[in-house]
Amino acid sequence: MNRREYLAGSAALLATTAMGGCASREQSAPYPGQMYDAGEVPIEASGWTRPKGIQPAYAPLRADVQADVTIIGAGLAGASLALHLAEAGLRVIVLEARQPGWGASGRNAGHVLPVLKDLSVFDPFPDRGRRFLELFREHHALTFDLARKHGIECDAVQAGYLNVMRGEGAFRTFSDESSRLEKAFGLAVERLGAADVARLTGSTYYPFGVLYTDGGRVNPYLFTNGLVAAAVRHGAAVHGESAALTLAAAGRRWRVTTANGSVVADRVVFCTNAYPTDIVPAFTDSFYPLTAYAVSTRPLPEKARELVMPSGATLAQAPIDLNPFVVDGNGRIITSSIPSASRPQDARWHFGHHLAWIHRTWPDTRGLSIEMEAYWTGRVALRDREFPGVFEVRPGVYGLMFFNAWGNLMAPLMGMLLADGLARDSVGRLPFPVDRPRPVDNRNKQDFMIRKLLIPAARLGQRIGLI
Ligand SMILES: Cc1cc2nc3c(=O)[nH]c(=O)nc-3n(C[C@H](O)[C@H](O)[C@H](O)COP(=O)(O)OP(=O)(O)OC[C@H]3O[C@@H](n4cnc5c(N)ncnc54)[C@H](O)[C@@H]3O)c2cc1C
Repeated sequence: MNRREYLAGSAALLATTAMGGCASREQSAPYPGQMYDAGEVPIEASGWTRPKGIQPAYAPLRADVQADVTIIGAGLAGASLALHLAEAGLRVIVLEARQPGWGASGRNAGHVLPVLKDLSVFDPFPDRGRRFLELFREHHALTFDLARKHGIECDAVQAGYLNVMRGEGAFRTFSDESSRLEKAFGLAVERLGAADVARLTGSTYYPFGVLYTDGGRVNPYLFTNGLVAAAVRHGAAVHGESAALTLAAAGRRWRVTTANGSVVADRVVFCTNAYPTDIVPAFTDSFYPLTAYAVSTRPLPEKARELVMPSGATLAQAPIDLNPFVVDGNGRIITSSIPSASRPQDARWHFGHHLAWIHRTWPDTRGLSIEMEAYWTGRVALRDREFPGVFEVRPGVYGLMFFNAWGNLMAPLMGMLLADGLARDSVGRLPFPVDRPRPVDNRNKQDFMIRKLLIPAARLGQRIGLI
């Protein structure tokens, strides 16, 4: 199952109709429903900001300044790009419309996936992806390496990415697919039987498993802010509350204006992913936006911590990952899916589905106190092919975006690789194509297909025991 399907399948399914009857119809949500629907609730809503709180704010740009590279957007992509450019000695200015980590990078499910699933994306690469795959093999633990190297305290734990299955057929399919990835990515994969799955998960519900030992989890909000802080230590300037408003040529350079200042730089890189503004309309038109949610619990009671995922591995279910699942360093469950189109703000309704699945998977948790702490939404950018977009729209104006649900690894990785190309002035020799963005046919296609059709169907399938 590829990552789009993963997202698509990330619905809470259990007892949907039954629960719909007993869960309250309309929970009082702290923000308007439209904000949940758009994946734009304040970042304070994200469980990843707890218990440490909101990270220090960066001051707005209030001057006219010069740089080698202007970066627009301080999520994982912009943060990694800034850090690696600054490390290479370039003068970098980052402009962020809100504050670092405000976008998907502060809102995601915390899984670090050491793998890309669709190998056909490499067909159009100049060398059929050979160099990229070499680099991916070398850096597929980059999230953990960066956290370690820069002393970022972000609960980055390489405890494995465990996929579990109920049926032998699903296990065989997954295992065969993993063999291809094992070869292509040099991935460390363990096939597990019932006893090993039970040892890692604490549950006997899934008799089969495939463990990618190099995967794991991270608090993406703290990781993003840690990368930004490291970039600043290496000389980058970062400005919050500084939305880029216009882009214009300034001789052979580029001027970006904000409300109270401007930056003139040789090159500009947009890292706006699924939250673009219309400065470069091509970045707005060339992906499919999809809103996703995540929910965190309060720290689990000691007994539940012993029962649920004692190995600390990140958990996914195959063939459909309905409850992508992490227990973080604070002993909280974080799980995620696609919100209902009709009640995206209804935290209890969504949490209720996950809780039913938790009780089914770990029956001894029934009667233990597992309480919701936070519920939030964010926006994902899907493409027609399962590889991030690297674009050049005008000479010196780039885009690095559209990370689907691989951002925790791919955004830092692609930021690092693009930084290398920019620093060496060799973007044309990067190990992936640098394209022109192409408008998608129907921007709402994936939202309609996944959120309005596939997810409700999957919920029904779960309810009647088909999946
Ligand atoms: C609920 C959810 C669950 C997910 N789960 C996972 C997961 O488990 N694992 C995983 O790897 N990935 C996951 N993802 C995907 C991952 O979060 C993204 O791929 C990644 O965060 C993208 O990072 P980014 O830096 O490209 O974009 P973002 O983090 O979205 O950053 C874009 C930034 O650009 C800024 N911006 C926009 N316009 C302007 C402007 N004009 N001027 C200045 N700034 C601007 C925005 O304010 C924003 O901060 C999930 C996403 C969501 C929403």
